[in-house]
Amino acid sequence: MSQTAIIIGAGPAGLTAALELLRSTSVHPIVLESTDHVGGIAATFTHQGNHIDLGGHRFFSKSDRVMQWWQEILPIEGSPGSASVSGEKSREKPENGDTGDAAEDRVMLLRERISRIMHGGKFFDYPISLSPKTVMNLGLLRTARTGISYLYSSLFPIRPEETLEDFFVNRFGAELYRTFFKEYTEKVWGLPCTEIQADWGAQRVKELSIRKAVAHALRSLIRKDAGISQKETETSLIERFLYPKYGPGQMWEETRRRVCELGGEVLLEHEAVSLDLEGGKIRAVDSLDRAKSVHRTLQADFVLSSMPVRHLIARMRGPIPEQVRQVAAGLEYRDFITVGLLLTRLARIDPATQKAAPYLLPDNWIYIQEPGVHVGRLQVFNNWSPYLVADPNTVWLGLEFFCSEGDKLWMLEDEAMAALAIREIEKIGLASAEDVLSWTVIHQPKAYPGYFGSYENFHVIRGFVDPIDNLFLIGRNGMHRYNNQDHSMLSAMEAVNCIATGKKDAERIWATNAEQDYHEEK
Ligand SMILES: Cc1cc2nc3c(=O)[nH]c(=O)nc-3n(C[C@H](O)[C@H](O)[C@H](O)COP(=O)(O)OP(=O)(O)OC[C@H]3O[C@@H](n4cnc5c(N)ncnc54)[C@H](O)[C@@H]3O)c2cc1C
Repeated sequence: MSQTAIIIGAGPAGLTAALELLRSTSVHPIVLESTDHVGGIAATFTHQGNHIDLGGHRFFSKSDRVMQWWQEILPIEGSPGSASVSGEKSREKPENGDTGDAAEDRVMLLRERISRIMHGGKFFDYPISLSPKTVMNLGLLRTARTGISYLYSSLFPIRPEETLEDFFVNRFGAELYRTFFKEYTEKVWGLPCTEIQADWGAQRVKELSIRKAVAHALRSLIRKDAGISQKETETSLIERFLYPKYGPGQMWEETRRRVCELGGEVLLEHEAVSLDLEGGKIRAVDSLDRAKSVHRTLQADFVLSSMPVRHLIARMRGPIPEQVRQVAAGLEYRDFITVGLLLTRLARIDPATQKAAPYLLPDNWIYIQEPGVHVGRLQVFNNWSPYLVADPNTVWLGLEFFCSEGDKLWMLEDEAMAALAIREIEKIGLASAEDVLSWTVIHQPKAYPGYFGSYENFHVIRGFVDPIDNLFLIGRNGMHRYNNQDHSMLSAMEAVNCIATGKKDAERIWATNAEQDYHEEK
């Protein structure tokens, strides 16, 4: 009798686990997905034939294994494995609502990253560079203050480094931190940087520092890190990335297709509602078919969970210590709303005359570091992939708002949310309300696991779940880690490796997002 793995969640982690199990073991994977689509946070939605990506997902990893894995599923356009050779030729092809089913559509594009910070109505390079333009934008006095405050922080760093504010100030100086980091970060987390642990910075900003940024800038002057691997480049600074022709969801749709082809099951609208813990193992998972309102108990030899840790523990039946329940219940998240705006054109509005002049933005995304607006980031989907946009004569934007489930923003009706987005894009002067053709509003709960709440006691949860030898926590919310797709996938691959070798090594799974391992230095 073959063994069964119940995989909770059909996001990048869950689908990677399913495909890897099929490829390297005889274990039968059943993926339970509570929504009606695959891809999780990396899904792609459509609006009137336009594709919308929640967040703008770069496909880039320092792990060769992940890079090759992606390219095996969706080859790079024009590469020997792909059906299309000329990007320009196939560009004419897509019609409204094309989902990329034809062979020449099942490809990834190689994209150049352009992103900037909007601050005080001006655009600054992201990452900030010490260019004449930056000096002009900031003014001489402020540039000097920035330099002095950086020097001061280098000589007298804050010790011990406890909060995120300490982390930023130590690496960038107080002035640069206040100008470019504070407001955006506080928008994302809904908390002052003084109330977030320094851990967050270590994970998000990795090893980035002024010294590394300057070294990178100098190196780029001499020679370009020309390939896609960009091994020598810190993740925040990478300049090229891969992107599925029709958005990130295309990768996960294609993975689902392969899983089913190899005999795996992906059950949409099936929610894991309880897990039975008995004798140190998870014996069964109860799944609710949401469409039919029917429960089904699935016996499990292995369980791989990418569902939020808070829910996982709350839904376990069996001997769960009270302290574990309390820490899990105290885990917090940040949530996310994207407003897709379809426009006839962009226009830069002159604040003095209120006149609008047509305008083009080269960016993939722009950080909005402006006071008085809620919008945190702006995506220009046309620049991610022209195939995301049904009519190339329109501009397809995503305005991103960070919020918490149940707060004022989250509770706004879609019309009110869209009206707010339109007011704010006018306020920052990038488009005019009269050019809006249509909009859509998408809510993404638990977009970011919080490094606050009961997070500091997360070790209590690990102490409980690690010894359960057929349970594997994988992915982003599944591990309560700020994992990107590649880390989520690597954790799934490690879990499958444990199943294949018959020995659970929890340490290896938890190590996937520790930078020293991740760099894979050869
Ligand atoms: C704004 C933003 C920008 C990002 N940009 C990038 C980027 O540029 N590059 C990159 O690589 N990554 C990026 N990421 C991260 C990326 O989205 C995640 O790493 C990835 O989606 C995590 O995959 P996952 O499978 O672990 O989790 P998820 O994507 O969260 O998938 C988990 C799945 O489990 C399902 N589920 C939950 N509970 C249950 C249950 N009880 N029963 C059944 N199903 C359940 C959910 O519906 C979901 O489909 C970004 C994220 C955000 C929020």
